[in-house]
Amino acid sequence: MLYGVFSDVHSNIEALGRVLDFFKENKVAGYICCGDIVGYGSNPNECLAALQELKNLSSVCGNHDLAALGVLDSRWFNPYARAAIEWTGRQLSPMSRKYLAALSPRLDGQAWTMVHGTPRKPVDEYFLTALQFQQSLDLVKRWPLFIGHSHMPICFRARPKSAGRVDPVLLENGADVVLGAGSEGISPIALNPGSVGQPRDHDPRASCALYDDEKMTFRVVRLNYDIASAQAKIRRAGLPDFLAARLEFGR
Ligand code: ZN
Repeated sequence: MLYGVFSDVHSNIEALGRVLDFFKENKVAGYICCGDIVGYGSNPNECLAALQELKNLSSVCGNHDLAALGVLDSRWFNPYARAAIEWTGRQLSPMSRKYLAALSPRLDGQAWTMVHGTPRKPVDEYFLTALQFQQSLDLVKRWPLFIGHSHMPICFRARPKSAGRVDPVLLENGADVVLGAGSEGISPIALNPGSVGQPRDHDPRASCALYDDEKMTFRVVRLNYDIASAQAKIRRAGLPDFLAARLEFGR
């Protein structure tokens, strides 16, 4: 079965629309969303409405989702993120609030595990190091582990035949990661599809991934979308200009 994997939409409906069209063109049968649906961008309700229309969607919440609900303290957010999250909190419709409030920070599925951050701190720890991968080994029962939060398309896995060594790899557009398997199922691997609505790897295109659980492949795909329109709406909403400017640089 083919899944569309995505994360960190951040209220960017232009980018999300492009990604969902791509998933539909590829006839995905299910969706995996690693959180931070809102925050930063100008269309939180529209993005949540688009997710509610997806069949067979598994989603966790991220730190921005919880902060927009007022459940997580946004005092430690940088000033741009905080301004946007306070604005987002005022925009959320009752239906959007209800949808976000029903999401949990971690999902342990039959065939995978998903968190926004890391298994030990699912909401707001960046998963960036080989050490964090090793620390996650005892905390995850079903692999692959899908993650988000860093806005980087990246993969962590143990290096074949080298005990204890972990390879973090930045994932290139269109390249397949082939998952390994042993007697206990899929071998430990953490996969981040990158960010739909605010990529930070110096590639401004929307990032998402296709996961094929039969071929056991994970492929990051980058898609051009109407960045100018997303920027104009951020500026029109009175959100910090930096949040609009960064979209065209992918950082
Ligand atoms: Zn995020």
